[in-house]
Parts: sequence; structure tokens; C-alpha cells
Amino acid sequence: MAFTSRFTRLVLLVFSFLAATAVQAQACELTINGDDMIKFDKSTLTIAPDCESVTLTLNHTGMLPKDQMGHNWVLSGSDNWQTIATEGLTEGVENDYLNEDDERIIAYTDLIGGGESTSVTFDVGQLNAGEEYTFFCSFPGHWATMNGTLVVAADS
Ligand code: ZN
Repeated sequence: MAFTSRFTRLVLLVFSFLAATAVQAQACELTINGDDMIKFDKSTLTIAPDCESVTLTLNHTGMLPKDQMGHNWVLSGSDNWQTIATEGLTEGVENDYLNEDDERIIAYTDLIGGGESTSVTFDVGQLNAGEEYTFFCSFPGHWATMNGTLVVAADS
């Protein structure tokens, strides 16, 4: 019986450790919404310095279909995001208006229509703390209004 009791305590200890880890991981999740007005609901996204990877979820809160009002979330360096967006035009809706082989792209989601959600997980190790990166939607004409800044917060 004594063994069973110790074992039970050990199991409880492991579970509380896992629960604490899960809470920590949630801080490394970002959410952004895009709508039928060609807007994201955030212009800045900040990643906590202790995140090893981040999962970004994009929700399309509008109603229009992907071929009329498609949204994706693309992350790149702030020097070349407009070039990537412009070059994406020639890829067409069948390729999500994005050259997914372009190595300047740090992370990207699928292109989605109204009512849909998608997410992407990427390594934070490839980003420099304090540097400003740019996220945008690569659907034709959207990048002009649908863009913003992503930073990894410096260690406090
Ligand atoms: Zn869009």
C-alpha cells in the first residue's frame, strides 16, 4: 500500500509538471483576425523571449470566399516583404498568391476564405530579438493595408 501511495504522488507530480508546461506553451501562441474590409485586427505582434517556437492562428472573420477576399499571413524581413508580395501576384489563387519556395519567407499560412481558420508553427531561433519583421497578406492588393510588425521581445 505504501508503494501505491508513493506511486500516486509521483503520478500527481508528473501531471502538475505537464500542466505547468502547457500553460507556459500557451504564451507562445499568437492570434490575428482578418475581415472582409481588407484589414487585420492587429498591427503589431510580439513574441515572448523564452519561446522556442510560436504558433500563429489566422481567423478569417468575414464571409467572402477565398478567390474574392482570401487572406493569408506571411512573415519576412522588413526589407523584402513588398517584393515577395508583388512576386506573389503571378502565382495565382491556386498557389495562394505566394512563391512558397522563396527562402526570404520566414513563415506562412494557407490562404483562407470567410469563416475559415488556419495556423502555422515556426522556429523563433531564426529571428533576432529586437529586430522588426513584417507580416502581410499576399492576396492581390491586400498587402497595402494588411501588414504589420512582428518583434521578439528582448530578454528582460
Ligand atoms: Zn487578404
